[in-house]
Amino acid sequence: MPPARGSAACAALPFLSAILAVVLIACSGAPPRKPAEELPPAGPPPSVSPPRPGGGIAPRPPDVAGARFLRIRIDDGTGTTTLAGETVRVWDADGRLAAEARGSVTLGAIGDRVRFNGTRLLGSAVDVAGQPELRVGKQRVDGRVRLIARNGQILAVAVVPLETYVAAVVSREAPPLFHPEALKAQAVATRTYAAFSARKPRDPAYDLVGSVEDQVFEGIDGVAEVFRDAAGGTSGLVLLYRGEPARTVFHSTCGGRTESAANAWGRDVPYLRSQSCDDCSGSPVYRWAYRMTVGEGRRVARAMGIPAGEQLQIIVTDRASSGRAARVRIVSGGVARETQAAEFRKAAGYSRVRSLWMEIEPAAEGWLVSGRGYGHGVGMCQFGANGMAKAGSGFREILARYYPGTELSREAP
Ligand SMILES: [Zn+2]
Repeated sequence: MPPARGSAACAALPFLSAILAVVLIACSGAPPRKPAEELPPAGPPPSVSPPRPGGGIAPRPPDVAGARFLRIRIDDGTGTTTLAGETVRVWDADGRLAAEARGSVTLGAIGDRVRFNGTRLLGSAVDVAGQPELRVGKQRVDGRVRLIARNGQILAVAVVPLETYVAAVVSREAPPLFHPEALKAQAVATRTYAAFSARKPRDPAYDLVGSVEDQVFEGIDGVAEVFRDAAGGTSGLVLLYRGEPARTVFHSTCGGRTESAANAWGRDVPYLRSQSCDDCSGSPVYRWAYRMTVGEGRRVARAMGIPAGEQLQIIVTDRASSGRAARVRIVSGGVARETQAAEFRKAAGYSRVRSLWMEIEPAAEGWLVSGRGYGHGVGMCQFGANGMAKAGSGFREILARYYPGTELSREAP
């Protein structure tokens, strides 16, 4: 149940506000990817080609030598992409310089061909780089970006060194005031999730999406030293389960007990089982409440296909063994529909109904929805990790607790 790409909560970039940081990390509240089938397949990982120097605009050498790369989709899904740099150069699939511009250019697509600045038609895929730097939308990226035209849409895929990606993601998925050991645990989880994803890419053209669907990546700007230290201090480390990268999902705050992958997504994963966790009790969203108005309840009901009239009822009808709501029934005017509780949460908004560990009670002029924790609850509890770190645990201990049965390894296979 991935929320909308680039949701408002994730588009804002506060670095120093603890409260907004909570909002940001809660972006991981939606399960990155659907469950099950995505256990890593056997066989070698897909090759990711390194940045190709072109026309004298080469990525910085330290980013190339010996580094692994990820292909991250960074366009905003609107169908066009704005590129900016003092000079922007475009190469076609054969490596020939196809276009050059100064300042800002817009790339769109006509069918399966890239349209350059509203006029020239290029091939179906081009590589771009900027001098001295390139911005794609608001994001500053390093190295090469590939633009692909597909059915009238343009996809922008940044080829990012793995460790650059890890530091940038940790900067958006965790608050800077977290304990350094908790940030290191986050860095390993982030790197492992990327390694897991690269073995079964989302699309032939990219490994991961740079939003809450996978992990939030917003370019290389604003990555504070604490985050680079967390990545650097764990460089190359990943968690393996039976020799394969683990699916190291995480969430803001479990609220007292984590959720199992089986309950959340319908398939058991041995290292993603429910366990008690009180280390997140210092989280501002350990407990929460949301007053849902009648108007909002009607909107949610309509979003779920119920023509909401008078006497609207919203009832939790089934719960998972962890205590989280599994099914919700909506009744109005003789029409009833029962759905997955996750669908209700999505319709209400992830930042309002912060988790499925909730009670829904009729209240004056609407409902009182009260609950525990923030996010899907599966895998590492970020505030729990921070609580453990503050109490003296190192990142290895934190990871062993939240992903039991996995092993820390220096290199992804
Ligand atoms: Zn917790």
